[in-house]
Amino acid sequence: MTERFPARMHDVTDETRAIVDLVLEYSRQRLLAVDTPLDKPLPPAELRRLTGRTITDDGIGARKAVGVFEHILAPSCISTDDPRYLSFIPSAPSKAAAAFDVVVSASALYGGSWLEGAGAVHAENEVLRWLSDEFGLPASAGGAFVQGGTLGNLSALVAARETAREVARERGDAQPDRWRVVCSVEAHSSIASAARVMDVEVVAVPVGDDGVLRGDAVRAALDEHGRSVFAVVATAGSTNFGIVDDLASVAAVTQEAGVWLHVDGAYGLAAVLSPRSRHRFAGVEHADSVIVDPHKWLFAPFDACALIYREPRLGRQAHTQHAEYLDHLTETEDWSPSDYAVHLTRRPRGLPLWFSLATYGTDVYRDAITRSIELAERIADEIDRRPGFALVRRPQLGVVVFEREGWERADYGRWSSDLLERQHAFVTPSSHAGRTNARFAILNPRTTFEDLTGILDTMS
Ligand SMILES: *Cc1c(COP(=O)(O)O)cnc(C)c1O
Repeated sequence: MTERFPARMHDVTDETRAIVDLVLEYSRQRLLAVDTPLDKPLPPAELRRLTGRTITDDGIGARKAVGVFEHILAPSCISTDDPRYLSFIPSAPSKAAAAFDVVVSASALYGGSWLEGAGAVHAENEVLRWLSDEFGLPASAGGAFVQGGTLGNLSALVAARETAREVARERGDAQPDRWRVVCSVEAHSSIASAARVMDVEVVAVPVGDDGVLRGDAVRAALDEHGRSVFAVVATAGSTNFGIVDDLASVAAVTQEAGVWLHVDGAYGLAAVLSPRSRHRFAGVEHADSVIVDPHKWLFAPFDACALIYREPRLGRQAHTQHAEYLDHLTETEDWSPSDYAVHLTRRPRGLPLWFSLATYGTDVYRDAITRSIELAERIADEIDRRPGFALVRRPQLGVVVFEREGWERADYGRWSSDLLERQHAFVTPSSHAGRTNARFAILNPRTTFEDLTGILDTMS
């Protein structure tokens, strides 16, 4: 018997069947639950006390471990799919997408190479194709699903810099002392993070009161920094406000200057799908690279970012890893997602979105996004009307930012903690131009107008 022992974790036995049943039953209940609480974090010492030691020489057994998860760990994690989760950017995976994530995990799929994962990669590529068409990118565009927008932005910017280096080499130009990336001051923090990793400089261009980056401001930055600029990043839906940069005028400038245009649409670019907001993204068709996070407004579970290059060849040149044991993969023309980003091993994280799109069709996605935009407009009107409240900016997409007149930072903080403490809602304060504010990020199709007015009522 002892020889069989090491395979205890892998053989299909009564024990295995019991574990799988337990886990699938838990998953089934969570997926179909209609009354999942919002929940909230506990301090580390409290969690230590409640769970005790769970990792031991002999194991505590699946039943006990699932119990610890169900009764202690899960309730100490905020349910990001709660309709009154309105902080940061919420997550609202469709039931089909969330359920299919279980299948992805169960199927031992490797999504890094065509050789190993052709079927999965084919389906992911169909999703990327569909998105590319929506953005108006050429038929040759393509890329890969990566872990998140931060990694998508980094990967795109690395490809942009490698391309700029190559161009400089071909021209016989000297390489600049310092490479620079131009973006708006309201660009996402992950651009600065990518720049730190790449050891390049960020040129943060100021924007007007409306928060929109336009071509003339980009042109001024390019005039000042010349060939040291390897990319311009335009934001298609800023995280704090949901503001879309003027992509068309920015693209006109980058095209004229021959500079790579990256569009960071992690949160907002999904709204290209809605007839209500499609016009805001005019110009995205000129991007050299774009990202959009399905785990945000495309209703996929964590974590997935669709990274698409106009010329995938440039992504591949920048990112393919070479090693003796990999040559078998890399010396082919096969489409291997590993080649397009800063990653190698990957789960085919685009499959939950593929399954959900295949299941429901694309129209309901358009409707769900339109609904959030309409709800954001409606609650913005309500805030405008309510005495004591002031909108900071008119919403373009699903983010509504407002102030409670007379409140200081500490007031917002207390109010927000109290909302979570009472399990009413999860709304964290934000700030703009040094002033604290409150912010609704509306994306979950189950969020109602009454949910939002109910929260406003708590601020009186
Ligand atoms: C969320 C977001 C990111 C970062 O994406 P992650 O998936 O959190 O890494 C980048 N840019 C914008 C505009 C975002 O909203």
